[in-house]
Amino acid sequence: GVTIIEETKMASLANVATRDGLTGLFDQTSFKHRLKEELERQMRYGSPISLVMFDIDHFKKVNDTYGHAEGDRVLRQVADVLRQQVRLMDTAARYGGEEFMILLRGVTLTRAEEVAERIREAVQSRKFPGGENQPTGRVTISIGVASYPQHASNGDELINSADEALYEAKRGGRNRVCIAE
Ligand code: GH3
Ligand code: MG
Ligand code: MG
Repeated sequence: GVTIIEETKMASLANVATRDGLTGLFDQTSFKHRLKEELERQMRYGSPISLVMFDIDHFKKVNDTYGHAEGDRVLRQVADVLRQQVRLMDTAARYGGEEFMILLRGVTLTRAEEVAERIREAVQSRKFPGGENQPTGRVTISIGVASYPQHASNGDELINSADEALYEAKRGGRNRVCIAE
């Protein structure tokens, strides 16, 4: 059963669950709040949590070629792919302009890497408006994956680890998944 304390926590969570206007996903503020709450819970129960962070490759090119409105359409469609690929219990957020983040509850690093690879393939194989003019002929994403407790002991560290892995994926040639060190 759900305790009164947990009910109160869920109510406070609902209050800060602000959404991104373009995609309907959680925004960065509510994502960070959820991550903090989830980590506190996991520290008590000892089950893992993982972050999958991704950024659209050469997205500036979409805007430059077709305009900002078309870029927004691509962003919404990427968000649709993301929603199709994650479970209801996972928290999916638009973390920045063309950056997305997923919090996977009770999910180990190995499993998170599989989820990331599935999302990468789903984006790569979907036909997006204007994709043919991207440098590789399609819209792709680069992904970083990090897990608690392997890579971090708090939320900021975990986000930084995922971000560094994402940077490695870009550096390694894009359209790939990298795991945090
Ligand atoms: P990389 O592969 O290194 O990620 O290259 P990139 O072109 O995606 O990266 P860069 O950071 O140079 O460009 C990101 C672009 O995303 C620039 C910015 O105009 C665009 N962008 C950010 N937010 C939005 C938005 O809400 N709508 C649209 N249409 N574009 C956005
Ligand atoms: Mg970016
Ligand atoms: Mg980008």
